[in-house]
Amino acid sequence: MLRAMYERLAEAYGPQHWWPGEAPLEITLGAYLTQNTSWRAVERSLGNLRNRGLLDAAGLLATPEEELHVLLRPSGYMVRKSAAIRAFLGFLFAEAGGSFERLAAMRTEVLRPKLLALPGVGPETADAILLYALGHEAMVVDEYLRRVTVRHGLTEERSSYEVIQRLAWSAFAGERGKARVRHANEFHALIVMVGKEHCGPKPRCAGCPLACFPALLPERSI
Ligand code: SF4
Repeated sequence: MLRAMYERLAEAYGPQHWWPGEAPLEITLGAYLTQNTSWRAVERSLGNLRNRGLLDAAGLLATPEEELHVLLRPSGYMVRKSAAIRAFLGFLFAEAGGSFERLAAMRTEVLRPKLLALPGVGPETADAILLYALGHEAMVVDEYLRRVTVRHGLTEERSSYEVIQRLAWSAFAGERGKARVRHANEFHALIVMVGKEHCGPKPRCAGCPLACFPALLPERSI
């Protein structure tokens, strides 16, 4: 059913063109900064970095911590987030000489655990970096996907990240290589879209492209 839901969303919303045309560093920064905040707030922090010419790994790493706090303030938790970003940049230079291309050349099964070992990186952030910044086969599971799959009876409220991720991959079992990456990219973007438009903490099923699929409602708060 999830594949049919994906196709319905693609039909309703069209291509999402994620991540909005940005370079790997900006995508990675976005993956960190978006934790616990809105994308609008992330854009303000990224704008601050852009205005200071700091969308550059070496320049960013050389920026004094206090200055970074000020630049990242709009997206909140700036002390924690700037420490996590600096740790990532240190990792990027230690593992790949500062090159995202070289980092992307590592195998997913080697790279993912290394990312997960960094501060401030959970599975969602690791998979977002792998998929959108590095072009790896990775499936991002977020709160929107959890809500949609629970409300349509495909998973349970307490299902783990890995269980939901396996379910999502099962929708693309027949795909290989780049097609798999492309579908994972679109799938997450479309789920975010329907989540924002309809499947928030309170579902707004009227007019939702997925309203034609059976759902386990009346509403429960998830
Ligand atoms: S808003 Fe309703 S129809 Fe849409 S995805 Fe959520 S539960 Fe399904």
